[in-house]
Amino acid sequence: MLTFGVDIGSTTSKCVVLKDGTELVGTSLCVGGTGTRGAAQAVAEALSAAGIGREALACTTVTGYGRNRFEGADFTVSELTCHALGAHLIFPECRTLIDIGGQDAKVISLNDRGRMTNFLMNDKCAAGTGRFLDVMAGILQLPIGELEQYAARAASPVSISSTCTVFAESEVISQLAGGAQTEDLVAGICDSVALRVASLAKRTELRPAVCMSGGVARNGGVRSAMEKALGQPILYSEYAQLFGAIGAALYGWQKQTV
Ligand code: ADP
Repeated sequence: MLTFGVDIGSTTSKCVVLKDGTELVGTSLCVGGTGTRGAAQAVAEALSAAGIGREALACTTVTGYGRNRFEGADFTVSELTCHALGAHLIFPECRTLIDIGGQDAKVISLNDRGRMTNFLMNDKCAAGTGRFLDVMAGILQLPIGELEQYAARAASPVSISSTCTVFAESEVISQLAGGAQTEDLVAGICDSVALRVASLAKRTELRPAVCMSGGVARNGGVRSAMEKALGQPILYSEYAQLFGAIGAALYGWQKQTV
């Protein structure tokens, strides 16, 4: 049986075709979140990657910030539920999930069946979210996907003292003017995001294994700063940004079969 998961985020739309609740047979990730054509494009790309039409799908489950604007879903489910299920499918041992997306960060505790048992969220402040990294990458004129290579080459990371994105932006510009190396600035920027979210995570039980999801998890600079801040290894999968869509597809499969 094929089930479809659609995650319409604030910045990016993601889709997954899941076979029998276990196998990813088509995935897509399109820049362009809620209110854009990103969602329609992501749907078309995932179906084409799986080599099927919509009629082959047993059901469609939609999640994410833009979920209520999507037409044609059988189920509409919160990101918290879907990220927990997605993490459970990829890493059954995961008990704490740190999800950092384009406009919020969530720390989700889950049980041995992938059900969310508790969560904490920062959706009030851009610091500690992908937005902070997007703004800083813009100032440094670097593609978001290259930040981790720069952070890895840092000799002496610059400490970013401003906790507000707008002030941090001025701070980075003045550091640049003062001759700071791009690599050191990028490492400081990654540290700053990790430290903000780690302080949220430390307010939970933080039961191992700890795993990261969301687009920001793709940044190795943030992941290694997070490991240092939490004193724990972080599980990471190349599907990290797709966990919400994977969980949505798994939710649909469970609804059809359980
Ligand atoms: P949302 O669901 O809110 O759209 P995502 O979980 O898709 O958020 O994450 C989007 C964020 O991921 C972006 O704001 C950006 O900072 C980050 N990001 C996107 N692509 C990459 C990449 N290749 N490497 C590192 N970070 C990335």
